[in-house]
Amino acid sequence: MSDEKCTHCGHQGLEPGFLSDRQQPTFDVWVEGELERGLLGGPKLMGRPKWIVDAHRCPQCHHLELFARHQL
Ligand SMILES: [Zn+2]
Repeated sequence: MSDEKCTHCGHQGLEPGFLSDRQQPTFDVWVEGELERGLLGGPKLMGRPKWIVDAHRCPQCHHLELFARHQL
């Protein structure tokens, strides 16, 4: 449990977690700057600062609070 408060219902104490594509053994990141697409349509990621997305879940209302605290 974290000491963060849910912005939806005000409950104190969120469950830590993260966002992941279950098909891939990885986790989601927040990429700094506007989205730019490459030749194949995917996002350009090279040289862009990236941060791990922490997703804390409220046990009361199930709302997710997202945080990007840790840079890769
Ligand atoms: Zn809540």
